[in-house]
Amino acid sequence: MRTAWLSEFLFLGLWVGLAALSWLLFDGAFGWWLASAFAVTSLRHIRQMQRLEGWLRSGRHSQPPQSWGVWGEVFEHYYRLQRRYTKRKKRLARVIREFRESTAAMPDGTLVLDTDWRITWFNNAAVRLLGLAGNRDLGQPVTSLLRAPAFEQYMREADFTRAVDVASPIRLGHLLAVRVVPYGRGQYLLLVRDITRMQRLQNMRRDFVANASHELRSPLTVLGGYLENLADDDSIPEVWAGPLAEMQAQCGRMTSLVNDLLELSRLETDAPGEPDEQPVPVPQMIRRIVGEAEAQSDGSRTIDVGIDDSLGLAGIERELYSAFSNLVFNAVRYTEAGGRIQVDWFCDADGSARFRVTDDGIGIEARHLPFVTQRFYRVDPSRSRSHGGTGLGLAIVKHVLQRHDGRLTMQSEPGEGSEFCCEFPRQRVRSLRPESARA
Ligand code: ADP
Repeated sequence: MRTAWLSEFLFLGLWVGLAALSWLLFDGAFGWWLASAFAVTSLRHIRQMQRLEGWLRSGRHSQPPQSWGVWGEVFEHYYRLQRRYTKRKKRLARVIREFRESTAAMPDGTLVLDTDWRITWFNNAAVRLLGLAGNRDLGQPVTSLLRAPAFEQYMREADFTRAVDVASPIRLGHLLAVRVVPYGRGQYLLLVRDITRMQRLQNMRRDFVANASHELRSPLTVLGGYLENLADDDSIPEVWAGPLAEMQAQCGRMTSLVNDLLELSRLETDAPGEPDEQPVPVPQMIRRIVGEAEAQSDGSRTIDVGIDDSLGLAGIERELYSAFSNLVFNAVRYTEAGGRIQVDWFCDADGSARFRVTDDGIGIEARHLPFVTQRFYRVDPSRSRSHGGTGLGLAIVKHVLQRHDGRLTMQSEPGEGSEFCCEFPRQRVRSLRPESARA
């Protein structure tokens, strides 16, 4: 038994012993002695409880009262618990202070939001970037301070895996990247970064590529024209036929490259297509593309089509044509003669529209798949170049799909073939059947 409890029992035993002794010596009054023994014990406990309550009330800094037995242990335990609690609190306060000091020193704006998107804290950079003021904006919903449609939609959709770009509310012409990071239970960090410089650099790069491509177009057209004339000219010695054909092929390659670069920079500059645009007659468009692909492959590959003729799509016809034709021409380019290509346009069970091109060509190794939509990424550069590929086709497809709220999925097995599928959400799907036919 613990010594504290032992001393309590000894104390009680002492009083009971005294009661027994008085009964033996003075013949009676045992009950009185026993009662006084329990009364003294109870009074001691009441007194210790009073001391404990007084100590707890007096605050945590004073020393605990001194006592013996179980009460001594109780005071000691309380004191130890309190000291541990104080130490932990100090440590937490230090961590919070350090966190606030480091986030206050960060060049990016940081705001702490509660479950209702109300601001509970922000750093100096947030003041600089968003023009916040402590006494005015603390407790305000962030959506009422950062009033940009893109940001409101971002908060409504609550897809915080990405950032959203919004115009600075206080500096004209400045662009901010805003990102929400959920943490803890119902708490959010809102990170704000000024990306104006990066955006300007990107614009400069895009404009440079667009201008350079545009400038190259006219000389290439002139060169192409002269080469064609020379190739048709019978007075040119036969020995020049080979070099002229090669020059014409290279000129054609450069023209395709310039056109693809121009197409890409236009896709990057133009505003995205709206879902309420006129429906594009996709079935007709696909038949046209397949016709061109068959002509290009001289009938050496079999192209089968499965098209839902009632299925249209809200979007920009020229861009969709560019994306779909790139996929079909790639299938021709990377399928050996005698191969089979399947082109499908259909509505999926979930209401989304899909354009799928499947081939039994050379396929792509899994390690290349994540990179094939990057500009100029080629699995086999010599094959791509010799078949007229620019290395920009799939980059164009990706951009077009992004602008039409779609996404590109691909599967491929080396030596077995590839499948590229464009998925468009149901809000983009339009029926091409006349109203009367549907009734
Ligand atoms: P390219 O003009 O070189 O075809 P793309 O951007 O269209 O450029 O494609 C990138 C690379 O992806 C190609 O170089 C090729 O290696 C690979 N690729 C694209 N489509 C297919 C396909 N259907 N089968 C096999 N490989 C493909």
